[in-house]
Amino acid sequence: MLPLVHAGGSWREPAAVLFDGRGSWGSGAAARVAPGSYAICLLCHREDDIVQLRWPTVTGANEVSLIEAQLNTRRFGACDQRGLRFTRQPAADEPLDPVWRPIDPQHDSFEDPDAQQLRPWPDDPAVLCWWLPSFWGRGGLR
Ligand SMILES: [Zn+2]
Repeated sequence: MLPLVHAGGSWREPAAVLFDGRGSWGSGAAARVAPGSYAICLLCHREDDIVQLRWPTVTGANEVSLIEAQLNTRRFGACDQRGLRFTRQPAADEPLDPVWRPIDPQHDSFEDPDAQQLRPWPDDPAVLCWWLPSFWGRGGLR
């Protein structure tokens, strides 16, 4: 999946074909989902939301922020308590993205969602992915 993305392939089609369009940024199943797909992750029950990918401190499609969802997934295995009964462990043929990591608020720099001047939405959602070299916050946004 990632080699396809790095080679400039579209996110949406390979992700949908390989992983049935399900995955999330909350549990490490990061490569499985196309940003903006609103697919629900089978592992942490988080719904994909590209707004929460861009601004991981806000709520949106999910009642908890992306940062909180990641903390919850590490603590008890789901993005929130309500989603716990819908989660499951990854199957043998569902490896987690080896380069993905949770957000580190001390080091990963995101835009202020309340800023007066925001960048236009990117053409390539890979720039929103804090764990990739292409992340647009690398080196600081503030
Ligand atoms: Zn997940």
